[in-house]
Amino acid sequence: MAEEVILIMEDENNNNNSNSNSNHNNISVSVVIVGAGPSGIATSALLNSLSVSNLVLEKEDCCGSLWKKRSYDRLNLHLAKSFCSLPMMSHPFRTSIFMSKDDFIRYLDEYVARFNVNPRYCSDVEEAVYDEEEGKWRVTVKDTASGTVYEIASDFLVVATGENSQPFLPSDLPGMETFPGKVIHSSDYKNGAVFKDEKVLVIGCGNSGMEISNDLADNGAHTSIVVRSQVRVHITSLLATYHFSLEINFSLLSGHIENKLAN
Ligand SMILES: Cc1cc2nc3c(=O)[nH]c(=O)nc-3n(C[C@H](O)[C@H](O)[C@H](O)COP(=O)(O)OP(=O)(O)OC[C@H]3O[C@@H](n4cnc5c(N)ncnc54)[C@H](O)[C@@H]3O)c2cc1C
Repeated sequence: MAEEVILIMEDENNNNNSNSNSNHNNISVSVVIVGAGPSGIATSALLNSLSVSNLVLEKEDCCGSLWKKRSYDRLNLHLAKSFCSLPMMSHPFRTSIFMSKDDFIRYLDEYVARFNVNPRYCSDVEEAVYDEEEGKWRVTVKDTASGTVYEIASDFLVVATGENSQPFLPSDLPGMETFPGKVIHSSDYKNGAVFKDEKVLVIGCGNSGMEISNDLADNGAHTSIVVRSQVRVHITSLLATYHFSLEINFSLLSGHIENKLAN
């Protein structure tokens, strides 16, 4: 058995945009939306439905990049699907309550097609400054394919860059600089096949930490977890029942309110 130990770090918020020089041009739009994750595409779809001009800028080459590029293979939604749908389109009946990653990605792709959301990909927003005199946002964008930097003016700015855009690895963990093993962030973890018989320490016990630990154990790794504070463990089937009854209660309640209003 190999002695190497691997640390897997959990996600933390750490979004930094860098400054750069820009070439100005005259693109102007009512609303600039930064990020084509679920929040950004939902905002664009709603604005489209109201005929408000908008432009979604996404630094990656696809929508839903967190789900397509930075999540592990066995990921299923951690919340029941009724709590994870975007405006104007529910999840298909055929999908399970805790949808698979693939089903959720299919849903996002169908959503952008259906509501005519057309993100401008490979567009990294480097800076956004509000010009008080003109009453406009000046958004500096780098086209990562060509390297060109340009500017867009807009009346409104929606920042939909998510919580997990950049992996956070604390640099001040004692012993980290001399640790001989491999260190990876959870966003780079795909599956446990390569960790068979390895000793693996997972730091962080949120949804990702728990599920990755389970995956490692299933794949024959010797897995330990470091937990900083208390952990609540729910049995999925109980959670599903709870979500299901909550849904029914909500729909009964809204029906009741509608009746009251009608009378
Ligand atoms: C393992 C895991 C499980 C999860 N499970 C669930 C669940 O079951 N249910 C649920 O509702 N949520 C879940 N989430 C939370 C998840 O973050 C949200 O579902 C959703 O992806 C958040 O959408 P968002 O659009 O706000 O952010 P994101 O999906 O993070 O999208 C932000 C987008 O902005 C882009 N961006 C960032 N900075 C820039 C920039 N400067 N210029 C241009 N583009 C930029 C990014 O590339 C990205 O595409 C889970 C998250 C993880 C990591």
